[in-house]
Amino acid sequence: MTHEILIIGGGLVGVAAAVALKKQGRDVALIEIRPPQTDPDFLNQDWDARIYAISPANRALLQSLDAWPSESRIQGVSRMDVRGDNGGQIEFSAAETNTPFLTYIAENRWLLAALWQQIRALDIPVIQEAAVALQTDIQTASLTLQNGETLNARLIIGADGANSWVRKQSGIQVNETPYGQHGVVANFHTEKDHNGTAFQWFEDGEILACLPLPDHKISMVWSTFTPEKLTSLSPEALAAEVTRKSKNVLGNLQPLSPAFAFNLILRRPESTSAQRIILMGDAAHTIHPLAGQGVNLGFGDVAAFADLSRDAADIGAYQLLRQYTLSRLAPVRTMQTGCDGLFRLFNEKKLPALPLIRNTGLNLVNAAPWMKNRLIRHAMGL
Ligand SMILES: Cc1cc2nc3c(=O)[nH]c(=O)nc-3n(C[C@H](O)[C@H](O)[C@H](O)COP(=O)(O)OP(=O)(O)OC[C@H]3O[C@@H](n4cnc5c(N)ncnc54)[C@H](O)[C@@H]3O)c2cc1C
Repeated sequence: MTHEILIIGGGLVGVAAAVALKKQGRDVALIEIRPPQTDPDFLNQDWDARIYAISPANRALLQSLDAWPSESRIQGVSRMDVRGDNGGQIEFSAAETNTPFLTYIAENRWLLAALWQQIRALDIPVIQEAAVALQTDIQTASLTLQNGETLNARLIIGADGANSWVRKQSGIQVNETPYGQHGVVANFHTEKDHNGTAFQWFEDGEILACLPLPDHKISMVWSTFTPEKLTSLSPEALAAEVTRKSKNVLGNLQPLSPAFAFNLILRRPESTSAQRIILMGDAAHTIHPLAGQGVNLGFGDVAAFADLSRDAADIGAYQLLRQYTLSRLAPVRTMQTGCDGLFRLFNEKKLPALPLIRNTGLNLVNAAPWMKNRLIRHAMGL
């Protein structure tokens, strides 16, 4: 069987790529071993603790793909309140940027369902079979599936997550730097109204973010060195601990979901393309979640490749794939370096004066509207 493009991985980024390229008239097939559950009963049963802050630019991308979830599941963030560990504070508000919201909090489950609905609406073939071998030459790529079938394509897109099989098969080396932290996530009901504010505290090298969800709910992402201390607590004890750590700004919290932890690793592959292959999403980069940019970078990959390849006669041509890699280098590296730098700045314990300097820095940026504006517009993808 031959397709123009084979996409391996049906997570948010692979599915967005499939929909974007299909809408441009390309012949696309998707390979995903575990398609997600998308039935309404499952989606409505509770609130997913795996959430993303979707930038306005990527909201526009998803809307252009007819894959933006129901507004009743989305919370716009109108204000961000970031606090340091020694009196530093920086605030951003949507009013300062002349936009309705700085970012939009959306659940993984609902985003996936909206994109998978388009896979079905556009009749994109889904192959639920593991790939076992990958070969390329100047003209084509061919993939052997576990059932023995061989698929040929002009291009293979590896969107198969952080431990990408496609990346390994392509011989692309990856530089991995573990942060020694896990992100612990859980949802809570709040006593006080959050008014669309996203809060973040930097303390003892750990970072606690409380991101607003509709109707007095928040989603917590706590980047911590000791995840088991949080995940071993009862839901009520965890809620009490987050209430304390968040200085009671939202009043008493009540648990809404179990907590779970995911490992935080900075991943920088030596390239994001090889002969007839490109990488997107977590296969191409992972990042500390402190700025909520992980999946935004992945959607940025999709938008960049869809734009560059729009009129290409050969979708897997060497020049096009190089152009894609080069076009993503600066945005991805800038974001990775920025987040990594901020993590290290608040984790440095050897310089006694550093807490004062970093907190003064936050206050200085807060007092410099032009600098704040540049920072926030960059994060918003504007
Ligand atoms: C447990 C967990 C919780 C997270 N929580 C948050 C959070 O709260 N906030 C946040 O900002 N980020 C979070 N992240 C990170 C975020 O989920 C990723 O940045 C984002 O999902 C990347 O999307 P992706 O499509 O590139 O990869 P993935 O979502 O990893 O999707 C990859 C897909 O490829 C499929 N696949 C893998 N190998 C193969 C193969 N050989 N053949 C076929 N299919 C294959 C997988 O089944 C999967 O569906 C979390 C990550 C994890 C693992």
